[in-house]
Order: sequence, then structure tokens, then C-alpha cells
Amino acid sequence: MSFADKTLTCRDCGVDFVFTSGEQEFYAQKGFTNEPTRCPSCRQQRKTLGGGRGYGDRNGYGRNDGYSAGRGVYSGERQMHSTTCASCGREARVPFVPRGDKPVYCSDCFQDQRRSSVRGR
Ligand SMILES: [Zn+2]
Ligand SMILES: [Zn+2]
Repeated sequence: MSFADKTLTCRDCGVDFVFTSGEQEFYAQKGFTNEPTRCPSCRQQRKTLGGGRGYGDRNGYGRNDGYSAGRGVYSGERQMHSTTCASCGREARVPFVPRGDKPVYCSDCFQDQRRSSVRGR
């Protein structure tokens, strides 16, 4: 295999940069089939920005000031959904989205159900 220097255009800043034969060899060894799409400085910049993980993108990190959309999004806090208990008709709060194909019970009735199903066999 032989490689020759290539001039590519950075898709971020539009600057022409050289994809050297040495780099092409390196890419080939790594099994990369794609040519780099960014100039070295843009690549470097993206690396320092946190390895492709959209820093400052809208994944809600660092914001927990109780806005409606932010509630329950955090891992660690379970999102509760309120529905009607199938047994007593009171409000039941459950950590999953009630889908209607199963009866949902409030915590009191849920415990009763469990107890009676254990006892009732
Ligand atoms: Zn660039
Ligand atoms: Zn109930």
C-alpha cells in the first residue's frame, strides 16, 4: 500500500488541511475507512470539549431548579405518575406509567393484594 498526502477541507471551519501519508497509514492500520473530516485543530477542540458528549447540550445536567420539564428527569429520582386505584378509587402514585392493561393499586391496596394472594392459595 502506498499513501500520498491529500488535501482535505475541514467541515467545521472550512480550512484546508493535509491528510498526510503517515496519517493515512495510521488510519489504515487502525482500520478506519473514513477520512478525517476536521482539521487537526478542530479535532483537538472537540476532544477538549469532552469527547463527543455534547457538553452543554440539553441533557439537563446541573439544572435542578424545579421547572416543570426538569422534574423527575434525573436518574436517582423516580418519576411518579398518579392514577386511580383500581380497588379503592383513591389516588395512587406509581413509579411507572400506568398503561391501562393492568389494574393499578395505591400502596395500601397493593400490600393488601399481595397479602391476600399469598394467603389465598
Ligand atoms: Zn477546522
Ligand atoms: Zn387503594
